[in-house]
Amino acid sequence: CEHAPMDKQATASRRVVVKISGEALGSATGTGLDPRKMGKVAAEVVAAKEQGVALTVMVGGGNLLRGAELAATGFDRVTADQMGMLATAMNALALREALENLDVGVEVLAAHAIATVAKGYSPRRVLAAVTAGKVVVLAGGTGNALFTTDTAACLRAIEIGADMMVKGTKVDGVYAADPVTNPTAKRFNQITFAEVIAGRLGVMDLTAAALCEEHRLPVVVCDVAAPGALTKAVGGAKVGTRIVAEPKP
Ligand code: UDP
Repeated sequence: CEHAPMDKQATASRRVVVKISGEALGSATGTGLDPRKMGKVAAEVVAAKEQGVALTVMVGGGNLLRGAELAATGFDRVTADQMGMLATAMNALALREALENLDVGVEVLAAHAIATVAKGYSPRRVLAAVTAGKVVVLAGGTGNALFTTDTAACLRAIEIGADMMVKGTKVDGVYAADPVTNPTAKRFNQITFAEVIAGRLGVMDLTAAALCEEHRLPVVVCDVAAPGALTKAVGGAKVGTRIVAEPKP
């Protein structure tokens, strides 16, 4: 596996990183925290894990705060992004609660120091926790301003030698145009990172797409709250849109 710097013997099972956007945990408008939605998403995560997959979740924070949006009002960008990263930590704690309510062990690991709240992230800590049967929830994205949790999920997936990254959103795949404003827009079954980048498809930021392309990490985009979608994606069955690197010449 080309993108597996970590020893694959450490865990025998398939490793998957699931990015859950903050919107998927919020109300109908994608804001705040909706306990009912969190319970639903947690149940999908548990069902996906029950296939025997070593599961690591990267949570977003867009339901609470997006740094770029706050910065657009004149706020200092780095401070705004630090606030965004703290928002992901709040979501991580909420998701831990929802998963523990379903009797699943959870380890929250943070990219930046919040010592009394969570241990710090390291690839070895992730592998130790998933090997012990826990779901790992990663907080704080990459720990750096100017990045997103999409990029963070791809980065961590590559670091831990994951087989794939699943981007769990409110949309059931990648479309040629916004399906909300364009109901006839075509949904792709499979596309390449090069097409995502060239077409500015907006499914993930360019940094994330370039990283996955370079390390040939496949990504599946699916609706994380749709019953069974995450289980299919994690198990390798057809669902949503699969994004892959161009075949090697
Ligand atoms: N963020 C950051 N660095 C990271 C990841 C996230 O600064 O590595 C900040 C950024 O302000 C971002 C916010 O955290 O807007 C929430 O993350 P994101 O927008 O990726 O969440 P999502 O939209 O997926 O819920």
